[in-house]
Amino acid sequence: MSTPSNGESSRKLLAVLRDRGPLPMTHLSEYRGVSRSKLGQEVAALGRLGLVVSGGQAPSTGGRPSNIVSLSSDVCYAGIEIGATSIAVGVTDGYLDVLDFVEEDADVHDGPDVVLDRAIELIHELIVRRPVSTLVGVGVGVPGPVSFRDGRLVGAPLQMPGWERYPIRDRLSRELNVPVTVDNDVNAMALGEAHAGAARGTDDFMYVKLGTGVGSAIVANGALFRGADGCAGEISHNRVAGAQSLCSCGRTGCLNSEFGGAALTRQAIVAAQSRESPVLARLLEENGTLTPLDVGVASAAGDAYATQMIRRGGRLVGEVLANLINVLNPSRIVVGGGLLGLGPLLLAEIKSAALQASTPLATTHLSIVQTALGDRAGVIGAAWLASETLIDTLSGATESRVEQSA
Ligand SMILES: [Zn+2]
Repeated sequence: MSTPSNGESSRKLLAVLRDRGPLPMTHLSEYRGVSRSKLGQEVAALGRLGLVVSGGQAPSTGGRPSNIVSLSSDVCYAGIEIGATSIAVGVTDGYLDVLDFVEEDADVHDGPDVVLDRAIELIHELIVRRPVSTLVGVGVGVPGPVSFRDGRLVGAPLQMPGWERYPIRDRLSRELNVPVTVDNDVNAMALGEAHAGAARGTDDFMYVKLGTGVGSAIVANGALFRGADGCAGEISHNRVAGAQSLCSCGRTGCLNSEFGGAALTRQAIVAAQSRESPVLARLLEENGTLTPLDVGVASAAGDAYATQMIRRGGRLVGEVLANLINVLNPSRIVVGGGLLGLGPLLLAEIKSAALQASTPLATTHLSIVQTALGDRAGVIGAAWLASETLIDTLSGATESRVEQSA
């Protein structure tokens, strides 16, 4: 996400290897603009910490043969993504490639003790499968505004009892005995897409999650923009035109109360009971309940009312995005989340409304695309956060080792 410049510390070496994969010593030294002897000291220092290995020769291109530098295969990270209705845990290698992944239903209403206990169990289950691996860091994405510094949710949504200011980071760090980094779930997804997905190589982009609620994350100049209180990109309570429904925040007409998994379920039940949507009425009779994705099923079956619900949702999201496009001028918007399962109409409608309502100059280089990582974006991004924390923690240690041996 950022371009290394001359003279940066050995923390950059770990980041370069993580982001670009194993590299010959000569390439690394040229790429980072440091001498081979300085680089050799950095590699040795990180080698003593068990993080980096050097060995195997790169094919000669005429000059001296060059050792390949890679991250140790023993090192692993874990990423946790806590959603309103699910929990996902992934274990990655040092390059953040996912080695193991599990996802299961969960309920944030059960409170942090229950949900975090389960996250810890899942990490243990995955780590047991990798006996030679050493867990060196854990990242967590949680659904709400986070004080990044404190590792806690602040201003947790009303439907998340017990989570407000709960010491998520300290609790997990104590029980797992590794550094833990906590961020908003959508921020983690954006970081995952930046590292290995649809936003790779893009310095100014937004990630939009269409889940139980709608949220977004902003990356500007290659860095996540969290805002003063950790709630930058929180678009779920943006007002949308012509909306009257009461939101969980106590106001009316928020995006959240008009579109998102929860809103769509409510609207689907009303449409079924009033028989405005014959297909949803039949699905409700058959299943006794409706899910947001039933709206997509009904639309695909030719139900005009269901199709209209999707179109309207896409338009509302697109109009909110247009305001952000005008302010932030991103070059890409990556859209993810379970509601993409409603079918291609939703994304098409979001694109069309967003482009229509933005100023032409702000959309000259804008592409609006679908997630490339799907439900793994959050755990990859959480693992990325864990790797950044490790790099920050170690940079002091490796710097002083390099100084001593110089
Ligand atoms: Zn609201």
